[in-house]
Amino acid sequence: MELNARIPDGPLPEKWDRHRFNLKLVNPANKRKFDVIVVGSGLAGASAASTLAELGYNVRCFCFQDTPRRAHSIAAQGGINAAKNYQNDGDSVERLFYDTIKGGDFRAREANVWRLAQVSAAIIDQCVAQGVPFAREYGGTLANRSFGGTQVSRTFYARGQTGQQLLLGAYQSLERQIALGKVQMHTRSEMLELVVVDGHARGIVTRDLITGKIESFAADAVVLGTGGYGNVFYLSTNAIQSNTSAIWRAHRKGALLANPCYTQIHPTCIPVSGEHQSKLTLMSESLRNDGRVWVPKKKGDKRPPHEIPEEERDYYLERKYPSYGNLAPRDISSRSAKEACDDGRGVGEMGRGVYLDFSDAITRLGANAIRERYGNLFQMYDRITGEDPYKAPMRIYPAVHYTMGGLWVDYNLMSTIPGLFVIGEANFSDHGANRLGASALMQGLADGYFILPYTIGDYFATAKKGKITTDRPEFRQAETEVSERMNRILSVKGKSTPEAIHRELGSVLWEYCGMGRTEAGLKKALARIPAIREKFWSDVVVQGSGAEMNKSLERAGRVADYLEFAELLCTDALHRNESCGGHFREEYQTEEGEAKRDDDKFCYVAAWEWKGTGQKPVLHKEPLKFDYVHLAQRSYK
Ligand SMILES: Cc1cc2nc3c(=O)[nH]c(=O)nc-3n(C[C@H](O)[C@H](O)[C@H](O)COP(=O)(O)OP(=O)(O)OC[C@H]3O[C@@H](n4cnc5c(N)ncnc54)[C@H](O)[C@@H]3O)c2cc1C
Repeated sequence: MELNARIPDGPLPEKWDRHRFNLKLVNPANKRKFDVIVVGSGLAGASAASTLAELGYNVRCFCFQDTPRRAHSIAAQGGINAAKNYQNDGDSVERLFYDTIKGGDFRAREANVWRLAQVSAAIIDQCVAQGVPFAREYGGTLANRSFGGTQVSRTFYARGQTGQQLLLGAYQSLERQIALGKVQMHTRSEMLELVVVDGHARGIVTRDLITGKIESFAADAVVLGTGGYGNVFYLSTNAIQSNTSAIWRAHRKGALLANPCYTQIHPTCIPVSGEHQSKLTLMSESLRNDGRVWVPKKKGDKRPPHEIPEEERDYYLERKYPSYGNLAPRDISSRSAKEACDDGRGVGEMGRGVYLDFSDAITRLGANAIRERYGNLFQMYDRITGEDPYKAPMRIYPAVHYTMGGLWVDYNLMSTIPGLFVIGEANFSDHGANRLGASALMQGLADGYFILPYTIGDYFATAKKGKITTDRPEFRQAETEVSERMNRILSVKGKSTPEAIHRELGSVLWEYCGMGRTEAGLKKALARIPAIREKFWSDVVVQGSGAEMNKSLERAGRVADYLEFAELLCTDALHRNESCGGHFREEYQTEEGEAKRDDDKFCYVAAWEWKGTGQKPVLHKEPLKFDYVHLAQRSYK
């Protein structure tokens, strides 16, 4: 299989405009002849579904929540980037492009990233027009703050609830199209299989999560905006229901999966507090605008923070990265926190924590200014930990947060299955080996509002596939596969709950494929995962039946997919004999302990082809060419 990214010719800044001109169009009157399935109603899915419907296509949108506005995107806190240069601080499309390429440790496609930076400004205009209440300066202009890995302020925000406000904007657009009859919304429906007919994606099979009914839907194209797979690690900051099944099902049907080992571990999360925790909570990166990160200089120092004098504190990010300070990128900040804790200088009961301290900012700006910027985050921290961050520093520790890997897509956001498009966190594009803060919302909305609506038309205009119905045998076969898998799970009747097995898998992944990875550790993980999978299929217990609401069955199906996917994640991590961004192989580091890339051997996207459970996947490489930027060792000093 040859991977063709379909990157247009021409100078980088002109590629997207030229490409849009060259894309074939569907005339307005013909658009209503095309049916599109959009799986996902987060920022990517909702923006795509509403925009496609607005253009005239007939859309069916699916989500497993009870309403589209409960998609995981609602959790996004800190903000969304855009190269508006409202602060007049030197920002530009080129600078956002460069920051993103560098932030991703030179493992993203130049052309995609330039386009992302280019359309970023339009996203803000679109959202303001929808009424999204971004924070404003006293004079009424939109306010900005900074995020990691940048030296400008380009992040637009709505307190610590940016995702919620953006999703309400997209949701209103979606609701408008639902009311107009252009979108049929299917809530509480889980896609369990992709249907491929004559090599093209032509539909999906779903399970109604209330009644258990298995149903097929046919369309002219399928769009997956199904989010990231961070929950494969069991503990993460993701919504508890986020999972990998939609992309994994598509992968098994022929869509290549790219860079699965690129996992983002976010430096500022509330530390794990005990064995029985099922979820971790993010403290937004925006807090690092005003919070200072430190640990005691002395190992094992158990004094409360206010008793540790200034000269006995190590503000390690400010010390190690003076130009970016507390806003060093996430991968680098996370590793530094781990390093400090491994060195015995961690804080809190378990010693796995560092301080995020606002006392300087409160003294300088007053508690009210801090409350205005981060009020809801401070409240959340207080409620979860019982500690008041206005009075004592927050305790934070890195946790799994975002996944840069995902289904491989070309420049048109189409996967290796023609007619299957992938948007938002579900695809692999744009962020390379490490995503900069506030760039996921930007990418999801860029994909949904401004890229897919153009590129999908080209597919319709050129593929000319004609209508099909769900009477085709491919749909019957996919339904049978879904029912058989479910019945197989139900018939095991063992003793281990899906959750317990998931936790076991997560702890293996965190230990051997987390912040630090080694060849020996990854080999151990690859030996353990098939054994956990075997345990699942011989000892899992799921009560009840498939013909009713059954949360345990839902969970079990997702865990079954994680157990296959985890093997691919570790295989990818093992094959990549270099460190880059969120993928830190301890064998490959500079003398200063930073990630050491091997551009001669690994400057490519690793796209994996499914060959069967327990079979070796086949690696395809998309070489990354850098014409515009110079490949360099990343430095934030
Ligand atoms: C706590 C937190 C804070 C964050 N803060 C920020 C931030 O400030 N700025 C930023 O840029 N990024 C942030 N991120 C990242 C960002 O929120 C996500 O990357 C982004 O929202 C993902 O959007 P999405 O539309 O791709 O997917 P999601 O919002 O995850 O939506 C997935 C959708 O797919 C549906 N779905 C999934 N599988 C199926 C299936 N099998 N069948 C049917 N439906 C399915 C779900 O129901 C849902 O509607 C944050 C992430 C977290 C965890």
